[in-house]
Amino acid sequence: MSDRRKANPDFDLRLSAISRHAINVSGNWFLWINILFSSFILGRDYFSPAILASGGYHPAYLLEISMGLALALSAGVIFILRMAPDQQAPWLSQLTRGTMLCLSGLWALCFYVFIASGDVKIVFSFSALLIFTALISLYFDARVLLSFTLPIWIVIVVCNFVYPTTLTALNAILYVLMAALFESGRRILRSWFVLAIRREQENADLIKQLQLLANRDPLTGIANRRAFQLLLDKEIQRQQQTGSSLSVIMLDVDHFKRFNDSYGHQAGDECLIKVAHSLEKATRNAQDVVARFGGEEFIILLPDTDAGGAEVIALRIKQDLQLLAVEHKSSPVSPSVTLSQGIATSDSSGSSSVRLIAEADAALYHAKEAGRNGWQHFQR
Ligand code: GH3
Ligand code: MG
Ligand code: MG
Repeated sequence: MSDRRKANPDFDLRLSAISRHAINVSGNWFLWINILFSSFILGRDYFSPAILASGGYHPAYLLEISMGLALALSAGVIFILRMAPDQQAPWLSQLTRGTMLCLSGLWALCFYVFIASGDVKIVFSFSALLIFTALISLYFDARVLLSFTLPIWIVIVVCNFVYPTTLTALNAILYVLMAALFESGRRILRSWFVLAIRREQENADLIKQLQLLANRDPLTGIANRRAFQLLLDKEIQRQQQTGSSLSVIMLDVDHFKRFNDSYGHQAGDECLIKVAHSLEKATRNAQDVVARFGGEEFIILLPDTDAGGAEVIALRIKQDLQLLAVEHKSSPVSPSVTLSQGIATSDSSGSSSVRLIAEADAALYHAKEAGRNGWQHFQR
């Protein structure tokens, strides 16, 4: 499994953002491991009379200083990670990375002391434990993982030959094996990490596409009735909190059946697309919502708009459609396509979405009755 089968900047950005977050989470766990391990080494030095009596650790102060520093550094960084007000701040992951490098140096010093003082038995098992724990916590970020493990590795391998023992050759083989195991393990873990993020991104893209499909009218590309209903409910809720007014205009193409009969269904479809775009042009882009309600009916949501404001939009719609001048030779109202509009306004006392739509529909009926190509307000 390759990390970069296709160049995808979105995916790379997401991958690095998740890696940054992951380093704060599992880096925290790894710092606790460092506290545990360095306490063990310090305790072993202090509480093992056999080792003290044997005169091991001749430069013991180096060991104590390095492990004391590792302990203090890990505890300090855990504290900072916990207290940081913004857990996503980039400096936090930089701090974790820098800390790993410092800890690596301290551990390298510790292993040097062990090997130089002849206390080699602990080195292989302890370094393997430390390095594989680092692998589990940092596998997703090769740079951080290598910056932690490489200095330790180099010091152990070099010291293995600088201070040879009867086990030097065997140790060398074991270190090569350990390196191979480490790298293959790192690749497998990372490939699963990348795959999980890739799948997550594919699912998120799919959900976005489905949401778009579920909310769009396939013919005109504008919002459909379902999306309108959701937005209207949200807007009514907001209106109840702010006390502002809200208007809805229901629109119906006049004598559209005759249009289809005269020009064919295909031309009828094209006419509906033109009308939809004209409605969008006549409204405010940011807050107003133009939707296809069904058939040749449209509906417009006008937030923060009173009856007077809705009438201004209704006039603009009529004028824009006149300018568009889509021929409608069989219409008794006008030589071009026209609309009838019903306006309903909800004041600060509020109204339900069902009631507001029913009122706009009733007003539309009156506009049709009044001769079409015009608008009527709903009268309570
Ligand atoms: P009125 O002025 O009273 O609204 O008359 P009308 O002819 O517009 O109303 P009616 O309800 O009698 O007819 C609506 C027509 O709209 C009938 C239907 O074939 C047509 N229609 C509905 N949806 C579509 C569509 O998606 N494409 C096309 N081409 N026609 C449609
Ligand atoms: Mg109709
Ligand atoms: Mg009609």
